[in-house]
Amino acid sequence: MDEGFTKTRAMNFPRQVIAGHNCVAQVGTVCEDLELKGTALVVTGPTTGALAAKPVKDSLAEKKYEIQQIEVGAATQQNLVKVEEVAKDVQASFLLGVGGGSKIDLAKLASANLKKPFLSVPTSASHDGLASPRASIKDGGNSLSLNATVPMGVVADTAVIVKAPYRLLAAGCADVISNTTALLDWQLAERLHTENYSSSAANLSRYAADSIIENAGSIKPNLEESVWVAIRPIIISGISMAVAGSSRPTSGSEHMFSHYLDKTAPGKALHGEQCGVGSIMMMYLHGGDWHRIRQALQMIGAPTSAKEMGITDDQLIEALVHAHEIRKDRYTILGDRGLTPDAAQRLANVTRVI
Ligand SMILES: [Zn+2]
Repeated sequence: MDEGFTKTRAMNFPRQVIAGHNCVAQVGTVCEDLELKGTALVVTGPTTGALAAKPVKDSLAEKKYEIQQIEVGAATQQNLVKVEEVAKDVQASFLLGVGGGSKIDLAKLASANLKKPFLSVPTSASHDGLASPRASIKDGGNSLSLNATVPMGVVADTAVIVKAPYRLLAAGCADVISNTTALLDWQLAERLHTENYSSSAANLSRYAADSIIENAGSIKPNLEESVWVAIRPIIISGISMAVAGSSRPTSGSEHMFSHYLDKTAPGKALHGEQCGVGSIMMMYLHGGDWHRIRQALQMIGAPTSAKEMGITDDQLIEALVHAHEIRKDRYTILGDRGLTPDAAQRLANVTRVI
């Protein structure tokens, strides 16, 4: 017997994932299949509520579930407390996040804190968090990325998601495309610091990114088929985090660049848009094929420049120079010292970002 061996690893996955046309009508059946009982709490928002919460509730009612609903706004600590209080008041036995990223994050965190099952029913797909165990929440001025639990079920209705602004889907695709550099950063950290690397997680993450890049030509506005092409890689990207037990396979230097912009240029570009542009530049630093990333983003209609992100050249350079300070524990191509302003300028010029 090998007594030196001490490794263990646990993985939690969604048990049911359904994507496609009108599948929101199957939410009740999914809950029944998962043997969920009692009261369902639908966590939704004022705008998305009307769009998707009604068919979700109709489907739950058909299966005789007690249904309660809470409408909330942004993913803030305050709203999280509100969701948890309502869930306790109505004695919810499970939660459903029906909406965009913030509603899903709130339902995800509340259900993790209350140890209740949770279903993700996205009405848009602006990042790869809809099937992941990670959630971000604002606490005061800070945005925290937290570990929660992976959804027990994911129901992604292409007929619903196609009605969301196309910009959101394009951003979700860009977020997944940015896995390409996150993976190179992870490999670098493994080589330099023997950081734990999971090839199964990496393969899922790479598959998701390649699949979006290879199908970039068929991802277009107002086309339900485009949502179909994009949504599965977006879900798989989230699952790669569940396999790794961290966001490592999907978040590297390009995400640090994006998090820095969240602080200095809030409300300009979307998370995925920033990560996509970051990925073009980080791929250049890795010596990889940054043209491939840029072309795919352009085909999809996601930004590839500071101007298209609505930020100034100075804001972009500053973010490049300081990105390495964002997560000291996460080693990337930016190293411990980051870029000098001159190098940042050159990088942004060469890759046509400014
Ligand atoms: Zn991301």
